[in-house]
Amino acid sequence: MRAVTVRPGRKDSLEVRDVPDPTPGVGDLLVQGLAVGVCGTDREIVRGEYGWAPPDRERLVLGHESLGRVRQAPPGSGFSAGDLVAGVVRRPDPEPCGACARGEFDMCRNGRYTERGIKDIDGYGAQVWCVEADYAVRLAPHLRRVGVLMEPATVVAKAWEQVERVGGRSWFEPRRALVMGAGPIGLLAALLGVQRGLEVHVLDRVTDGLKPALVRELGAVYHTEDAERVVSAVCPDVVIEATGANGPVASPRSRAPRPTGWCA
Ligand SMILES: [Zn+2]
Ligand SMILES: [Zn+2]
Repeated sequence: MRAVTVRPGRKDSLEVRDVPDPTPGVGDLLVQGLAVGVCGTDREIVRGEYGWAPPDRERLVLGHESLGRVRQAPPGSGFSAGDLVAGVVRRPDPEPCGACARGEFDMCRNGRYTERGIKDIDGYGAQVWCVEADYAVRLAPHLRRVGVLMEPATVVAKAWEQVERVGGRSWFEPRRALVMGAGPIGLLAALLGVQRGLEVHVLDRVTDGLKPALVRELGAVYHTEDAERVVSAVCPDVVIEATGANGPVASPRSRAPRPTGWCA
């Protein structure tokens, strides 16, 4: 079968290659790949800036945003042939740390976790792949066109979950949310905010093209003004940072807003 492979650490080593067909282990589903998402992490790996091949191998099968159809499922796994599934990306470290031992491997403390298509384990960018039934998520059949967004959606679902946990430590009835950045992650964050019944505002630098229209279609308000002005106008109870920009911003006007007093 064919797979999208890369040699981690080497720039532009991306190549579609023939690789051996996978053999399902005990408890594994055998899945026909339908779609793979490409995100910033994949681009970093392709640029040679991130990623690890499985031990004793040079190349890694890329792809962590997956969608596939089950071809074969072990009896008692809860899955059957024909099911639409996405695979979980991360696996706990073998030791494991306290967080991993409690199933919170997104919060791994020792960094020895592994990740499909990123760190030490092959990804889902192949015609056929296997996944442990415990790490497969079944999707409703009508999600065939959008199911590949399941993995990136979980990133922001987790963010919202944490927002609610932190807020829940005291009185918390958020009404307005501000999402910084209207890329795929920002759009998904906005979608989940609207679904929670919040008034959602999205801030981005782009003034035309798809982003403003998509934000409006989600039922949110699109902004391109200076961040400080948007924050004081919106007075958000929740801010989700989804720009992915970790360097200083170009214009001093768009620096993080200074607190200007309480919002009503
Ligand atoms: Zn990703
Ligand atoms: Zn861990």
